[in-house]
Amino acid sequence: MTSLDRPHLFLGGEWVPPASTETIPVENPATEEVIAHVPAGTAADVDRAVAAARDAFEEWSALPPAERGAVLDRLHTALAARAGDIARTVGLELGTPLKVAQRVQAGLPLTVLRGYADLAARPVPPEQIGNSLIEHEPVGVVGAITPWNYPLHQVVAKVAAALAAGCTVVLKPSELTPLVAYLLMDAAAEAGVPAGVLNMVTGTGPVVGAAIAGHPGVDMVSFTGSTATGRAISHAAADRIARVALELGGKSANVILEDADLVKAVKVGVGNAFLNSGQTCTAWTRMLVHRSLYDEAVSLAAKTAAGYPVGDPFDEATRLGPLVSGAQRQRVHGFVERATARLVAGGLDAPVPGTGHFVAPTVFADVDPGSELAQEEIFGPVLSIIPFADDDEAVAIANNSRYGLAGGVWGSDERALAVARRMRTGAVDINGGAFNPVAPFGGYKQSGIGRELGEYGLAEFRQVKAIQR
Ligand code: NAD
Repeated sequence: MTSLDRPHLFLGGEWVPPASTETIPVENPATEEVIAHVPAGTAADVDRAVAAARDAFEEWSALPPAERGAVLDRLHTALAARAGDIARTVGLELGTPLKVAQRVQAGLPLTVLRGYADLAARPVPPEQIGNSLIEHEPVGVVGAITPWNYPLHQVVAKVAAALAAGCTVVLKPSELTPLVAYLLMDAAAEAGVPAGVLNMVTGTGPVVGAAIAGHPGVDMVSFTGSTATGRAISHAAADRIARVALELGGKSANVILEDADLVKAVKVGVGNAFLNSGQTCTAWTRMLVHRSLYDEAVSLAAKTAAGYPVGDPFDEATRLGPLVSGAQRQRVHGFVERATARLVAGGLDAPVPGTGHFVAPTVFADVDPGSELAQEEIFGPVLSIIPFADDDEAVAIANNSRYGLAGGVWGSDERALAVARRMRTGAVDINGGAFNPVAPFGGYKQSGIGRELGEYGLAEFRQVKAIQR
């Protein structure tokens, strides 16, 4: 038993004991200590959660927008009061360095929730097409299944949008980082989110996740995680033609054209690739550099990576915390071990703290665009640098991926825009264009189906009806 233990599930607006007494340990990846236990939920718990969400749906979906907006506004206030706790909790269960945890892991979900509280309060304007009145209605009960790398943001991106649209939700957070999701449920209880509108069952993917994905009472499954699991969820939902929204993996390219500001492009590019120890689905893990700048880019990237302090997430100086688990570190080690490209920084022999799942920031140059290093999502602090001869070759290499989530281009505006338009990805940042929390977020190809955030994210949870008169 530890003081962070959470023995209950959140069902029908109450904290209730799970059907089974089995628990899942939560580890601090920087110390390898078990810091808490949460319930290992079962299919029986999912049944109860779905029943509660179904019961709540009619009333919640019929609420006037202003009232739904007011509930989300109260939820935002209650969650904002926990901002410090959120950053600390993500620091403990995931190992995100505190400053990044405050800005991204706590700050971003609060921004997203604030935006959806406003959108929820805004009535959908009536639309007439010929003799048809077009109505927008919530999809129904949503199953939300989320991963560990941005454990509150990924939850809020789904939950806030679904609730704003008038849906009710059954959430299963990642079993590796469930503690921060409990803070959202605490906030929901305090804010008086009506009973059954938001429910949470903790547990493993194959048990609780699979039960949600295959549940006949779940109208839509919104999933973020690996492409392999997204495929399994799609299969489960296909049997009953349930709607799916999938946010999956990525292998994004950062294209540095010959007229780029090289120093800035490399510095920002390395920072992007290593954010959250490289455990970021949009990470620019492939740096594509014009041949005329290539040698300088390689040496700058190696120097930048070597300057990243690795260690305790709660130490102010730390830029790179541990990976989430021993299994994840082993996976990343495997990629580094098998790599045949030229190692220019980090690697398996570089010093890291002896306890904790740390991997040194690692850079490979002369990476073959078809090799495992350039094709597979590594989800660790490993950057691959690849040269190109002209814009056409840069686009061809960037698009030589089964993923299509994000990317960057550096160069003069018009030329960079032309390259960005040719990249087959859901988002591209030009010259370090800032992340926009209300712009549509999602993937082309095997990076996913559907969009999150802003109005596009809300639309995923609605269906359209045509009434002819
Ligand atoms: P994962 O697919 O293993 O797990 C994600 C969630 O799915 C977890 O809650 C897990 O318990 C659950 N799950 C596992 N097996 C399941 C099953 N058979 N049925 C139902 N649910 C199941 O992914 P992860 O390891 O937690 O996260 C890392 C991956 O997520 C990376 O590949 C990353 O690219 C991807 N990701 C994508 C985005 C995005 O927005 N596109 C964001 C973050 C992470």
